[in-house]
Amino acid sequence: MVEKIKVTFLGTSDSIPSANRNHTSIWLKYKDENILIDCGEGTQRQIRKAKLNPGKITKILLTHWHGDHILGIPGLLQTLALSKHNKSLTIYGPYGTKKFMESLFNTFIFVKKFPINIIEVKKEGKFFETSDFRLESKKMTHGPPCNAYAFIKKGKIRIDKKKLKKSKLPLGPLIKKLKQGKDITYNKKKYLVKNLTFKEEDKKVSIVLDTSINKKIMPFVKNSDLLICESNYAQDLTSLAKDYNHMTSIQAANIAKKSNSKKLILTHISQRYKKNLKKFLNDTKKVFKNSSLADDLDVVEISK
Ligand SMILES: [Zn+2]
Ligand SMILES: [Zn+2]
Repeated sequence: MVEKIKVTFLGTSDSIPSANRNHTSIWLKYKDENILIDCGEGTQRQIRKAKLNPGKITKILLTHWHGDHILGIPGLLQTLALSKHNKSLTIYGPYGTKKFMESLFNTFIFVKKFPINIIEVKKEGKFFETSDFRLESKKMTHGPPCNAYAFIKKGKIRIDKKKLKKSKLPLGPLIKKLKQGKDITYNKKKYLVKNLTFKEEDKKVSIVLDTSINKKIMPFVKNSDLLICESNYAQDLTSLAKDYNHMTSIQAANIAKKSNSKKLILTHISQRYKKNLKKFLNDTKKVFKNSSLADDLDVVEISK
C-alpha cells in the first residue's frame, strides 16, 4: 500500500483573519506522524472542523513569532492538558522560540501535564530524520528569525523482480537485507544492491511562509511535489511586498517554475484581493500552470 502524505489547510488568511479565512496553520499527515506547521489564533477550532484529533499531533513547526502564526498555541496546549494528553510534543521554531514559549507559559495559568520539548532550529538543512522521512529548514528574510520547512518522504528501495528471478536468489531474509540497502552473499557469491534494486523517487512538500523573495528559496524547494508558498500580494504591489518582507504570487510562480516543482498552492493572501481572486490566480497560472489558491479546510494528497 502506498502511504499518502495528506496536507490540510487549517488557516489561509494573512495577518488579519476574515469570516472565511482563519489565521495560518497547516496539518501534514504521513503514517503516524502529524505535523502542525504554525498555529495561528483559532487553529484548534479549525482542527475540529477538519475532523482531526489534536491529541495526534506529534510535532509543531513554527516558522516565526508574528502573532498570526503562533497565537493559537496557548489554547491548543491547554486543550491537550485538559484532555489528559500524555504523549510528548516537540515544538520546533527559529531562534528565540525557547524564550517566547517561556513567556507564553507565564501569561496564563497552565499546568504542564505532558512533556513539551522545545527545539530551536538554528542550523539550516536536515534537523530531523527517521528511516521514512526527514525534515529540513532554511532561514528566510522576513525581519524576525523565520524558517521555511520541507518534509521529504524518502523513496524506498524496491526489488527489481525480473532481475531477482534471473539471479535465482531464494526469497526470505536475504531479500529483506537487499531492501535495507545491504549487499548480500549467497552460495559464496556476492550480490550487489545496485544490481538488483531501484530506488523510488523521494516525495517533497515545501512550506515557505512569510518571507521576501530571496536567493535561498529556489534551491531549497527544488523538485517539490507540492510547494506551499505565501503570496501576500499580486504583482501590482511588488514594491510593497518588498517593503513588508512578503512575496507576490508571480514571484512564487517563478520559483515554482524554476525549481521544477510539480504543484504550487498559494496561501497567506491579502484580503484586498478577496473580490478578484480569479484574476489573482489567472495571472499566476500564466507563469506556472499548476497553481491554485488555498481555502480553509482544503485537503491535498500526495501519493505517486
Ligand atoms: Zn503572517
Ligand atoms: Zn510574519
